[in-house]
This record gives sequence, C-alpha cells and structure tokens, in this order.
Amino acid sequence: MIVVEVYGYEAGLDQIPKCVSAVYADEPPERSFSASGVRLGFDDSKPPQPLRGLVSLTWCERAVARSRRALFLTVCGSGRRMEGMRLRVAWALLAAAVFGGVLRAGADFARLDVFQGTAGREDVVERLFRVYVSRNVDRSLIDLSRDALFVRTDAPGRPLYHRVAFAVDPLAGAEEDGTVSARAKAEGVPEEAAPGLPRGRPLAGWRIALDPGHLGGAWSRMEHRHFRIGDDPPVAEGDLVLKVAFMVRERLEAMGAEVFLTREDATPVTRLRPEDFLAEAAVRLTVDGEAMPESEAVERLANRMFYVSAENRARAERIRDWGADVVLCLHIDAVPWADPDNLSLVDVDHSHVIVNGAYSSAELADAEQRVLMLERLLRGFDRVEIPLAESLADSLAEASGLPPFRYRGPNARRVSDNPYVWARNLAANRLFPAPTVFLEPYVANSRVTYARLQAGDYEGLRKIAGEERPSIFREYADAVAEGLERFAHRAGPPPFDILFRGAGLNPEKRAR
Ligand SMILES: [Zn+2]
Repeated sequence: MIVVEVYGYEAGLDQIPKCVSAVYADEPPERSFSASGVRLGFDDSKPPQPLRGLVSLTWCERAVARSRRALFLTVCGSGRRMEGMRLRVAWALLAAAVFGGVLRAGADFARLDVFQGTAGREDVVERLFRVYVSRNVDRSLIDLSRDALFVRTDAPGRPLYHRVAFAVDPLAGAEEDGTVSARAKAEGVPEEAAPGLPRGRPLAGWRIALDPGHLGGAWSRMEHRHFRIGDDPPVAEGDLVLKVAFMVRERLEAMGAEVFLTREDATPVTRLRPEDFLAEAAVRLTVDGEAMPESEAVERLANRMFYVSAENRARAERIRDWGADVVLCLHIDAVPWADPDNLSLVDVDHSHVIVNGAYSSAELADAEQRVLMLERLLRGFDRVEIPLAESLADSLAEASGLPPFRYRGPNARRVSDNPYVWARNLAANRLFPAPTVFLEPYVANSRVTYARLQAGDYEGLRKIAGEERPSIFREYADAVAEGLERFAHRAGPPPFDILFRGAGLNPEKRAR
C-alpha cells in the first residue's frame, strides 16, 4: 500500500475529494517499492498548495475505461458525497492528476508580461538563436512575427499562444531614462574600466550567491559525485566545492561584496527526501496499461527528482529570497571511468565554464522551461553571463594551466570566442533567478588533480606530480576572485545596465 497525503486540496468540495488518503494497487504489488508511507512532495516551509487537475469524475471514469492495470484511490475528507468512496484511477492518469503539481511550479506565462513592448526585436532574435535555441527549433513552441514573440501555452482554457510584443522603438525607452547612450546600447560590456570604482573594494555593492554544487557527506554517494581509491580519503565533489566556496566567500567579502552560500554544510537544502518521490517516480515510469516498473529504476528516478529537481528548486528559492546580482555554481569536473568496478585515474584534465542556453525542442516541450528560458532571454541574463563566464574562464585557465573541455553532441553549444565557455540547459542555471555561471575546472579523477585534492589545503607551494603547486583549493578560489574583479572593472557595479541596453529595457523594470 502506498499512502498519499494531499495537503490543502480545496477546490469544489461537493464534486471533488478534499483529501486522498490512500492508493491501493488492484493487486498486491510483487515488488513493493515503498513499504512505508509516501508523502507527497510539498515543501513544508510553504503554505499548502492546491493540487491542480485532480480529480474530475469524468477523468476517473475515462481512466477506468482506458486502463487495464489501475489503482484504487480511497477518498476521504469532507467532500460529503465522496466520503469513503473508492475510485479506480489509472497509473498514468494519476501521474497527471495527483502528482502533476508536485515538482512543477507550473508555467506562469503572465510573468512575461512585464516585458511587453520593452524588448527590441533585432536584439531578442539575435540572442535567441545565438545562445538559447537552434534555428530549427520547433516553431510550434516558439515563433516570431514582425512585432511579437509567440510562445505556446498548453494551458487548458487559455489562448494557445501567449504574445510578447516587441518594442516599437527599442531605443526610445533607454534614452528617456538618461542612463544609456544610444551608442552603448548596441555594445555589451565596455572594454575599459568603469569609472569611479572604489579602490580596494572593487565588488562594493555586489550581492553574489555562491552555490556549492551537489551535496556532501553521505549524500554525495547517491549523486554519483563520489569515489574512493584504495584506502585514500574519498573524493566527494560536494564537500570539496563547499571548501572552495568558503574560501571564495572570504576573498569576495574582502573586496566589498555581500556573499550568500546556498548551503553551508553537506545536507540538502530541500526538506524533501528521496522517499517523497517514490510514488511519483513509479507513476512516471509506468506506461499506461503496463506492469509496474522495476524498483531499482523507481529508486534511481526518485533520487534524481530529489537531488536535481527538488534540491535546485529549494536553492533557487533561497537565492530569490536573498536577491543575488549573480550566482556562481562551484563544481569540479570528472570524466567517466573506463571500468567503474576497477577505478583507474586518467591523464586527461581540463576546465570549462557554463552559461544557460542550448535548449532542445524536447526540453522546450515542457511549458515551464519555455517560460524560464524566455524570462532569461528577455531579462538579458546572457548579457551578463557570457562576459562574466569569459572572465572567469580566463582566470581559471591562467591559474590552472588546463586546456578547454570540448563538448560533443547537441546538448551544449559554443556561445563565445572563448573556447572554455559553453551554453547548456541545466536545472540550476535554468531555475536560479539571476545571471548564473557554472564553473567546471579540473578533472577530479585525473592523476594530477586527484593528487592535488588528496594533498588537501596548504600554504605556499608543494611538489605534486613533479611540479611545485599551490593548494588546488586556493588556486580555485583565487581564480574566481580574480575573474570577478576583472569583470567588475569592466561592467561596473550592479544593477548592470548592460542587462537592459540591447533589449532597450528600462532598468526600473528590473525584477528580482
Ligand atoms: Zn558537479
């Protein structure tokens, strides 16, 4: 038996159950994927939210007709006519109805309305195809006319497309506010230093969120960001980058920045846990009319829903509450093992830096991803992300001496002359509500980097793998500080009016 508690479900009490207390398989599942109760994944820190779409009787009836293998759903609560009633619902339908609202924040297309009439067509189109999508993106999802951008909504009862009008004269708005010259609009970050920056405190006025990637301690094993060779201390990416984050914070604060860490220890930010996703994972993996999925597959997906989706959403909330100007995601790369059962270090070592972009049509088929991508585009986040990424890529390359990593395949694209800079659509850089740059220097399972990680933090230089080298942690942290400082000298303090130049946006419209 899987127990599903649904909090705060309130719509239409007479026709719709207020509370679904239990779901039974129509026969005892041979492989029980959860002996104990499975709690639906609402974040306790937020007020209970209504579940969308559950359960119109017609849906249930249709489900009964369609399904060969189904669930019984016991309804209780104060819906008078539903008291004690058992509904037979298909797995797949349950996915849409009961679980549809758990992880998806929903696609709020009205969020794009703040950009109505603000963005210049030429600029938006150029950045859309250079950074975010390829020319052959599915035009039924996103399309352009002479004076507007159209995005498909998928929402029942709404117009099929949401329209975002381009500015009639994109230069007019920016000139009015007097901060941006018409010439500067077409340019990105100026090459020369912004005037009047306080000496010694080049990051004064900056609010920088640092996101130490992944989780640490015991959690890192679940994420497969963890390995151990012989009796050496284990290499857990989440713990290593947390150490780097503390060092980066110290350096940035010394330069005048306010710094926020999305996590300060090994534990998850989300209050949810993998077991909260077992039921949803089972539903997602179950094709209508087929047998229940393997329990290992269910567990793997539930784990991913926990540490990718739920965890990054919780971190995005923290960043939003704090109000960051930029976010830096700190990671250390690794390459796949030739033989996972017999770990052997490799010679390849490299570095790269990631900005948001390179959405596939398959990803954009998800309405939430369409909104998030367009919001980043219309806010001009790439105008900050790309030059900031270039600056950080250069400082990391200079410090580490490592060559650039090259992606093969369609899920990443070059968006800069700088060979270290790539665009990818990742949960964190899609969800984080500020310009976000992912740092992926070093290959943790390369001979040299592994030896440097094992050496831990130290002062001065030590001979490692035949060369005198500083602590890898200090090298990483110093390079991040250096890259940010150089960028700050070019871009000036936030709010970055470069965000609004090309798009012709009024900085007043900047929303956090
Ligand atoms: Zn990582």
